[in-house]
Amino acid sequence: MTKLDCTVTQCLHNSDNRCCKQAIIVDGHGAKDKDDTCCGSFDENRDGAFKNIFKTPENRLEVDCEAVNCIYNENRHCQAEHIDVVGDGASRAEHTLCATFTAS
Ligand code: SF4
Repeated sequence: MTKLDCTVTQCLHNSDNRCCKQAIIVDGHGAKDKDDTCCGSFDENRDGAFKNIFKTPENRLEVDCEAVNCIYNENRHCQAEHIDVVGDGASRAEHTLCATFTAS
């Protein structure tokens, strides 16, 4: 389980810079740089229509990840103790990225 800090406050699943999902998918097949990655679980919260009042930010969650060139990737699963997903103001998944990506 990985600790996740996430600055993608436009996402439906974000609450207090943390994620309310129990598992996320990071995309980035063939990624050679963190800019080639993105959060595949991003859902835009249009106009702030959905509040996270019934959701609890998860301290740790499962991270499946397609960025197999990252040193933390083991069998498409992230083994990092902590990751940062960034993309403040993102309106599409492509505007997000895993800042912890480290090329192997
Ligand atoms: S740290 Fe590496 S393996 Fe973990 S989610 Fe980010 S890109 Fe994927």
